[in-house]
Order: sequence, then structure tokens, then C-alpha cells
Amino acid sequence: MPDRLCVISDIHGNLEALEKVLGLLEDYNCPVICLGDIVGYGANPNECVSLIKDRQIKSVMGNHDAAAVGLIDLNWFNPIAKRAIKWTTNKLTTESKSFLKSQKKSIKIGEAFMVHGSPMDPITEYVSNIFVANNCFEFLEEDITLVGHTHVPLSFTYNRDQIKVEHYINGGKFTINGRCILNPGSVGQPRDGNQMASYAVLDFKNKEFFVYRTHYDINLASKKILDSGLPEFLASRIRIGI
Ligand code: ZN
Repeated sequence: MPDRLCVISDIHGNLEALEKVLGLLEDYNCPVICLGDIVGYGANPNECVSLIKDRQIKSVMGNHDAAAVGLIDLNWFNPIAKRAIKWTTNKLTTESKSFLKSQKKSIKIGEAFMVHGSPMDPITEYVSNIFVANNCFEFLEEDITLVGHTHVPLSFTYNRDQIKVEHYINGGKFTINGRCILNPGSVGQPRDGNQMASYAVLDFKNKEFFVYRTHYDINLASKKILDSGLPEFLASRIRIGI
């Protein structure tokens, strides 16, 4: 088991954000894992799949990854997401599709359980409040659960029948003390009001989880979305982080 893991999630075809984050993570010299949604919304799905594949980054399957390769009914999604998924499906190469199809629904590394949605429903359920978090703690035995999907970096801690939630809008450090659910936020489409890409480093040895935020070339990523014929809202939302 590694001493540390770099954790990324929800890239959503945003190559500019992914390249920036992977560049910064090189300094850590430890494995990178991805909590799903490599594609969907952004203009560079194949390039993002190739980067994840070439760097041998272990990833779990997200709802957009599954939908883009026909494994989830499109009716699950709102109209804008649906349009973006159809666009993505048309763009994806056969190679990218088979890579996305091969993703597991969950992975375990050391004492950490990793999933895109929730342990109960790995692809689609959002762990976005203490009620769902409580269900996760009851469902799982692992001490550390890593989730993505909400695009909001946060931690839930379970301590003496109480659940505490903390947000990391400007990044920050979380000390692991008991059972927890950790979300690194989104690389390619943050939704907590901060447009900077979000990612995390999980330090098993020192029991710490660090969330970092970084600027990337949002103008270019946004322009590519507009130029590609994807819904305009997708170009504007990454500028404001919603
Ligand atoms: Zn997502």
C-alpha cells in the first residue's frame, strides 16, 4: 500500500484543467487515482481518456462515463447534460469507449474504498448531505471512503453518532480521526462557487487529507466548449464555478 495517494475526480473532458492538475501532482511522486467522470460536458473527452490511460491512473466509473458508452439510460440526466452526453458519445473513439467500459464500479486501496457516487449506489447516488453520509457509514465497514460526483470538496466525519461536515472552498487540511467520507471536488467543473480546479492528496501515514485549488486556462477550456457546439451554459458555468 502506498503512503500517499493523489485523488482527482470529475474531469469532464476539461483537458486544460486535467493537464494543470496532473503537472502539479508530479511533485508528490505517488499514485494518482480518479473517482470517475473523465468525460461529459467538456470539449476534449478523448484527450482526457488518453491521459488517464497513458499514465495508468486507476479510475472508477462515473455516471457520465457510463452514459457516454450506453450503460445508463439518458433519461436519468437533465436536458443540458443529455445534449452533452450525446455530443460526447459521437466524439469518443472506439478505443476511448472500450477504456471507459472497462472501468470498475469501485476500488479498494489499503483502508480506502473508492467510488464515484455512493457505496450503496456506486454510479448515480450523490453523497451530498449528512443523511446520505449516515447511510454510507451504516453500509460500509471501511474507515475511509472516497467519493466524487457532487463536484464539491468536503469531508464527513463520523464520531460518537454525530456526523460533522466540512467544506474546502479555498482548499485546506483535514485530519483523519475516525471514520470519514472524503470528496476531492472536481478537476474540470467545480460547483462550490470557486472556479479553480480542485484535487486532493490523501496521506495514509500521517492521516491527513489535503484539498488544493489551482488556476488553469479557463478561457481556453470555455472557448473550446463554445466552438464545439456544446450547450453555452457549459462554457459559462466553469467560469464561475457552478
Ligand atoms: Zn461529475
